[in-house]
Amino acid sequence: METVFLDKADPNFKHEIAEKIGLEVINPCYSCGSCTGVCPVREVIDDFDPRRIIHMIVLGLREQILSSDLIWFCCLCNSCYFVCPQGIRFSRVATELRKLAMAEGYVNQDFLKGLEPVNDFLQDLCRRAMFQKVKEGLMGTHTMSCWQKYTIR
Ligand code: SF4
Ligand code: SF4
Repeated sequence: METVFLDKADPNFKHEIAEKIGLEVINPCYSCGSCTGVCPVREVIDDFDPRRIIHMIVLGLREQILSSDLIWFCCLCNSCYFVCPQGIRFSRVATELRKLAMAEGYVNQDFLKGLEPVNDFLQDLCRRAMFQKVKEGLMGTHTMSCWQKYTIR
């Protein structure tokens, strides 16, 4: 397991991200695991865990997060948002983390180019996962809007 040095943590990081996504604060994460449980990406990439990334933000692990490949794997499907009791919209968090990672030179164009096939795969995975959930009626009406986003052009 990777060692985490909290003396290098940035206590303002959570406020910075909260402000960027239009919140006063990132509400305390309950660690309920609902986001992790519904995430289609998590089903194929063991290390990807939105709950863990939220915890890293709250701990201020700025460098570890911005330099991590994992922030690029979220397919922005919003499945986790609809089940989060604290209203954390992880897709917006991931988008802001990516913007910061680009702005601060953690990734370059070669990295982004290499990511394209992975993105295509993950988008397709999410579309199929959402479609299956709607078909099974497992996630109620909230799912519909984000399912439509991907299926109705
Ligand atoms: S937006 Fe979708 S892919 Fe991203 S963490 Fe949430 S459930 Fe997973
Ligand atoms: S669903 Fe929300 S409260 Fe629960 S673990 Fe995920 S981020 Fe935390």
